[in-house]
Amino acid sequence: MKILKFGGAAIKDGRSIKNIVKILQIYKDSEVVIVISAMGKTTNALEKVISCYFNSKSKLQSALQEIKKYHNSILLELFDDENHKIFSSIDKLFKDLQMFLNLNKSPNYNYVYDQIICFGELVSTKIISGYLNHKGWKNSLLDARDMIKTNNNYRRAKVDWNKTKEKIISLIKKRENIVTQGYIASDSNNFTTTLGREGSDYSAAIFGYCLNAQSVCVWKDVPGILNSDPRYFKNSILLNSLSYEEAIELSYYGASVIHPKTLQPLKRKEIPLYVKSFFKPNEKGTKVGKNLSLNPDIPCYIIRKNQILISISSLDFSYILEDNIYQIFKLFNQNKIKVNLIQNSAITFIVCVEDINDNLNNLLIDLKAKYNVNIYKKVNIYSIRNYNESAIKKIEKNKKILVKQITQKTVQMVSQE
Ligand code: ASP
Ligand code: MG
Repeated sequence: MKILKFGGAAIKDGRSIKNIVKILQIYKDSEVVIVISAMGKTTNALEKVISCYFNSKSKLQSALQEIKKYHNSILLELFDDENHKIFSSIDKLFKDLQMFLNLNKSPNYNYVYDQIICFGELVSTKIISGYLNHKGWKNSLLDARDMIKTNNNYRRAKVDWNKTKEKIISLIKKRENIVTQGYIASDSNNFTTTLGREGSDYSAAIFGYCLNAQSVCVWKDVPGILNSDPRYFKNSILLNSLSYEEAIELSYYGASVIHPKTLQPLKRKEIPLYVKSFFKPNEKGTKVGKNLSLNPDIPCYIIRKNQILISISSLDFSYILEDNIYQIFKLFNQNKIKVNLIQNSAITFIVCVEDINDNLNNLLIDLKAKYNVNIYKKVNIYSIRNYNESAIKKIEKNKKILVKQITQKTVQMVSQE
């Protein structure tokens, strides 16, 4: 059994979906489970629907129409016959979504979010499973919510591994090809939950782990894992191979190519992870696996943008010690502030944080009551794994470096834009 995952960019239009049929020829000798996320930017578009639902109902229908129109145009590219039953099944899904919007009484934002956001994946898998069957690649569409079981922490649900394994094994029989959704799951009351944005990679790893898959392959719109993000760095180089540990480190420092939770389950069962180019399926891409060394042996650059540097010192110039650090971290935790870098000296404590939930002002009120606080907004954290002198120079050039930390394998620098 092999697991394949196609993300939004790899299924964003009819042409890309047609390309899946070509990719599947590579797998004609094994059964596969195909894990699919929402098409293109549908998840973002559904987030807009959710925000209209809560904040501006008058714009709700037009936000929904846009999503319907987008999927309809893809259907028309894929199916010549407008009487094909797929058109009415997709219509039915959108009616289900409308019904939820009409009937829902819950004010719980995160719960409502998950009940709506899942339609991106429900629609994409229905279309792709239908299209592949239509093209003669026989498959069964299974609902991931019947297989991946989680707690009810909506939008960031935690997987119940025992139940999930049992469900996956009992529902996926050998000798058949499966299409299912990434990202979505369900709680013990069978309400929809999700695994966190970009969570389909993680879903693929969950299926891989539970089925003892031979491999997991994530198909991307980049050639594989690169040594830097081509959106921000020139001359990015493809990594042919790396170990699980190195891949975990890279995602810890913020490399976004693989969802951070994906690697642990694969590492535990030593299942290799391939990251390949959707447009060049015969090229090797990147292999992540046991004892693989970083090849080529080059520095890897990661940038985290839009960070906030906070410098904290005591009002009476006393040392910042355990009790203060404890207090400070409690405030971060209470305000759901993500800490990405820490530097401590005798009287100053410096942290670089990310304010995902817009809580910075609350945090600053709490902090300023007890400490001297200086903040620098819009700073970047550059991390270089496997660094050398010239890599450091390249990053430092023309920048004001506010903090620099060097360990054996990693350099981190905070710079002001
Ligand atoms: N569709 C979801 C998202 O965009 C999950 C994923 O793409 O992995 O976050
Ligand atoms: Mg997506």
